[in-house]
Amino acid sequence: MRLWEIVLVDDTSLDLTAPGVYQAWLLDLHRSGGSTESENSTRSLAGRPLGVAPASPKVISGWGSLWRPEIALMWEQGIRTFRFAVWQSKKEGARPFAIPRDIATDVWNDYLATVRVVAAPGPGHALAYHLTTAPRDLVFAAEASAGGAAFKPQQRELTTRIDIFLARVFRSLMPEFRDDHFCGSCKQPVASETPKGRESRAAVCSHCALQKWKVNKGVEGVRAVWRRSKAKAKDDTKTERGE
Ligand SMILES: [Zn+2]
Repeated sequence: MRLWEIVLVDDTSLDLTAPGVYQAWLLDLHRSGGSTESENSTRSLAGRPLGVAPASPKVISGWGSLWRPEIALMWEQGIRTFRFAVWQSKKEGARPFAIPRDIATDVWNDYLATVRVVAAPGPGHALAYHLTTAPRDLVFAAEASAGGAAFKPQQRELTTRIDIFLARVFRSLMPEFRDDHFCGSCKQPVASETPKGRESRAAVCSHCALQKWKVNKGVEGVRAVWRRSKAKAKDDTKTERGE
């Protein structure tokens, strides 16, 4: 699955604009539905490509308190903008065909890679959020002028990570862009292409597919399949020997 598909599927079932929900969801991107606890604890940071939550245990324990209202709104507005972008990108003919198709793709790639949600003081000191291609430094400048007290280093880090994550989500909406693929269940990276070079349509990784199959079959079902394949192997050996 592309990143936008992961976000869309989980947003549809969970509502990723609900504070308790998305805070747990972002933290869970480090964990996995498909593997055991012991496997997870040995996984390195490099093995957490979707990580938005800071990795250190100390920071994770204070995870909830990192979410200043400004940061929470930045995420929530990002998800609302994402919903709009999904709806918009489904409309045929939205592409600017006035310029040649391949150039249009380049323009959109460049644009979407730098798309960010920024906060700026609006009328009456209320914060306003917009989608912009401004560099991240401007996000911090807007935070400083709008947010009052300075952000803690961990809060700045969280803001940066959310910013990068949302930019990746928007970029993955580009059909022509061969983006990374992830398992919809354990969120680990999976091959983005089939052996024939087509884009993969697999929703989950092979590990999670096997887990799902086992759950569906039940313990007895899995044993029955195992017994049958063992019996078949025995039969095949007999046939080969001509018994
Ligand atoms: Zn998986």
